[in-house]
Amino acid sequence: MDSLEQLRSIAQQCSAFDPIEKNILSSDVARKDGINCTMCTHYDGGKCRIKDEILTSMDQT
Ligand code: SF4
Repeated sequence: MDSLEQLRSIAQQCSAFDPIEKNILSSDVARKDGINCTMCTHYDGGKCRIKDEILTSMDQT
């Protein structure tokens, strides 16, 4: 399981982020903590392939 911190930094550099709800970007939690993968339609319980790609590229830095 990825930590919420990881999911946040992944979502912030992901160009495929697709909010599950139109107004989620203006929600309190998004405003306070930023977006994360659990707010994205592609997340699918952690099975998003893009997430794995971004994670891999982050590991290399
Ligand atoms: S769930 Fe996948 S597509 Fe959505 S923001 Fe995260 S990495 Fe990007």
